Amino acid sequence: MSRTGFVTDELCFWHDPGNYALMLPPGGFVEPLNRHIENPEPKRRLLNLLTASGLRDRLVALPSRDAAEHELLRLHSARHLEHVRAVAAAGGGETGIGAPISRNGWDAARRSAGCALAAVDAVMAGRVDRAYALTRPPGHHAEPDRAMGFCIFANAALAAEHAIRVHGLERVAVIDWDVHFRNGTYRCFEQRADVLAISIHQQAGYLQVSGEADEVGTGAGLGYSLNVPLPPGCGDGAYRDAFDRIVLPALEAYRPQLIVVPCGFDAGRFDPLGRMLLDDVSFRWMTRAVMDVAVRWVVRPLRQLTQAAEALGRDLDRAPLPEDGPLEVQQAARAFNTMQQRLAGFINDRTRVLAALSHDLKTPLTRMRLRAELMDDEELRSKFESDLGEMQTMVEQTLEFMRGLGGNEPRVPVDVDALAAVLQADQAAPGRTSRIEGQARAPWIGSASLLKRRLGIARNITRGCGGDVALRNRPEDGLAAVVSLPRTAAP
Ligand SMILES: [Zn+2]
Repeated sequence: MSRTGFVTDELCFWHDPGNYALMLPPGGFVEPLNRHIENPEPKRRLLNLLTASGLRDRLVALPSRDAAEHELLRLHSARHLEHVRAVAAAGGGETGIGAPISRNGWDAARRSAGCALAAVDAVMAGRVDRAYALTRPPGHHAEPDRAMGFCIFANAALAAEHAIRVHGLERVAVIDWDVHFRNGTYRCFEQRADVLAISIHQQAGYLQVSGEADEVGTGAGLGYSLNVPLPPGCGDGAYRDAFDRIVLPALEAYRPQLIVVPCGFDAGRFDPLGRMLLDDVSFRWMTRAVMDVAVRWVVRPLRQLTQAAEALGRDLDRAPLPEDGPLEVQQAARAFNTMQQRLAGFINDRTRVLAALSHDLKTPLTRMRLRAELMDDEELRSKFESDLGEMQTMVEQTLEFMRGLGGNEPRVPVDVDALAAVLQADQAAPGRTSRIEGQARAPWIGSASLLKRRLGIARNITRGCGGDVALRNRPEDGLAAVVSLPRTAAP
């Protein structure tokens, strides 16, 4: 069963943007409402629903934590941190553009960002397959140097950065379907290629920022930020189209190792700040689509592993598997590569021993040949020498074979036509025919000693027994030497 982590913290619900009229500070002709629009209620209702429905019991509870200052400083300036802290210490107030906090704002903002980091840690440690952080204040409008749009720190961007800096990931995707353009995430990563940041949002839905389709990152990050601004009134069909044509192909091409989703629900049809027409079904299929990409990315290296296992029997010197992907897959690929390395080493060692044995046989054979020369009986000596010659050939061929198996011999292109001509000349003798059939289309790529050994066998047979040799050029398989033995040949 797959495991979904869940992290939240009561302090996040205590974050209080103060007395507002929706999102405007009261005063002049603006009568205050009871609450700021980004008040605890919507998210508390989500939490209550999770609890009441029993779904929360099926999630893995993850402990919350604060983001440490050095973790915030990965993307934010020290000046920004000091400013937020000072506003909170002074009793609360505006920290940027539309980002008010109360006295506990500094603590709540650090806790909110910390929950996102805790979710990343749990996924990267393999404790859960995915995780949801229900926190506030939100983050995707917070820029490196200023708070904005209810957001104090860039929670999702900090989560992606955490995965890169601490867990060593090289490609993280951030898919943001909040109804507003995520200017903060864009500013954090616009010059970087290690984060693919995609936003689907209502065009010009947040007037201080743009988020147009031609804002696609700069420098090294060119092409790694994608904006899909949709006109107000778009519903499920437009989002599906954006997913099919932009989001999913981009994810497939980028192959992220982790996907972070700043999951604003304000593209829902009842949200007062958005003018989009999504519903619960829309958020469900978007989540499913992103999860499917992640699953496909997990499965792909497993398929590579299967293919590599099948190929191993045929070629021990095949290139090692790439050791990337999710942690478990990386470990499997590493184990496979080690096994292949050990197998190759094992076979090389045994081959060297056999080669040494064959080499040692040559000395007694030479000695026997010298002794044979002292034999008086002409007929016996000739037969003995012939037997010795055969034995010597066998030993030499074994040596050649072992050298070929050593695995280190380079594969070289062989001009098959020229080789056939040389062999034909070599075979020329009275009463023996030798012909060449066909022509090579391309050089044969292979081991020179292997070729020499095979041709040596054909040569020895014809020298010993007579017969005809046909050399056939086979476009796919190189050279074939076909020997026809005379019917009267001795065995
Ligand atoms: Zn929003």
